[in-house]
Amino acid sequence: MNEPVLTIVVPCYNEEEVLPETISQLLHLLEQLMEEKLVSCQSKLLFVDDGSNDHTWQIIYKASLRHEEVKGLKLASNAGHQNALLAGMFAAKFVSDCIVSIDADLQDDISVIREFVQKFHEGYEIVYGVRKKRDTDTFFKRHTAQGFYKLMKAMGVNLVYNHADYRLMSRRSVEELERFEEVHLFLRGVVPLLGFRSTAVYYDRKERLAGETKYPLKKMLAFALDGITSFSITPIRFISIIGFISFFVSLLFGIYFVFLKFTGHTQTGWTSLIMSIWLLGGLQLIAFGLIGEYIGKIYKETKRRPRYIVDIDLLNLPMLFRESHA
Ligand code: UDP
Ligand code: MG
Repeated sequence: MNEPVLTIVVPCYNEEEVLPETISQLLHLLEQLMEEKLVSCQSKLLFVDDGSNDHTWQIIYKASLRHEEVKGLKLASNAGHQNALLAGMFAAKFVSDCIVSIDADLQDDISVIREFVQKFHEGYEIVYGVRKKRDTDTFFKRHTAQGFYKLMKAMGVNLVYNHADYRLMSRRSVEELERFEEVHLFLRGVVPLLGFRSTAVYYDRKERLAGETKYPLKKMLAFALDGITSFSITPIRFISIIGFISFFVSLLFGIYFVFLKFTGHTQTGWTSLIMSIWLLGGLQLIAFGLIGEYIGKIYKETKRRPRYIVDIDLLNLPMLFRESHA
């Protein structure tokens, strides 16, 4: 078997502080893999600039002039981590046998990519990078993340525990991924659904090398709730929130009303009447809110917006070629 062509896709949003180091470390690794004949010498690094407003693109562009392994894809505006990743993977699949996705901040141990590729040689099509422990995260992030996994599991979504978007995928699995046409493609949930032969590799996650997290609390919540910030369905979500609040308040009131009943301060029939009003009111609002959530999703999906718009493409792919660029 010929060595597989590997593309390492790196989404970058305002990463000027860490990017030069990331590029040099990944280049070094890629050269080693080529020397070890684990990957083909056609292998590439593909940096996706997700609409940064610092010097991220200049750094990528200059590196691409110096090193033929370095390629860049510049999105016209900030499409978000998941979409930037998809943009990179869908572009890379034309020129690669396998694709590794990794964050720009070098929190994930890049030496694990060697094991990813070895697993690919063994015939695995999807290799998940799984964090051994989360001790470099803040207390808050660790616990919210855990709650998130539990919640998803309870709702029947099969996630790989403690796996973020650090993984290897074969070309075929990325091609299949593209057939999931929903705009809100939640990668961590969809990739396990593909069902190809998969395995996991364990590693320690480090602190961010430089710069700040691009996932502040606000983005984390938006990510977990899949677009709570979009104002178009927020009014619907309000109904659920009010529903949950009144439901829980009704439970508290319920205890109080029963207390009143047993201390003899009520009319006959009043307790059951008032409790059913409160409980049913809360439950109805929750039900309305839930139906609204689904309608909101339908509303968003029917728009079929493109996930991203490519501005400059240093891979010069025929399908993206534009005459106006001359
Ligand atoms: N990122 C991106 N677009 C965004 C936000 C983040 O491409 O809108 C990239 C970012 O540059 C990094 C990766 O996504 O390479 C993960 O972000 P970060 O490391 O800040 O998240 P954390 O590790 O704190 O969860
Ligand atoms: Mg990070």
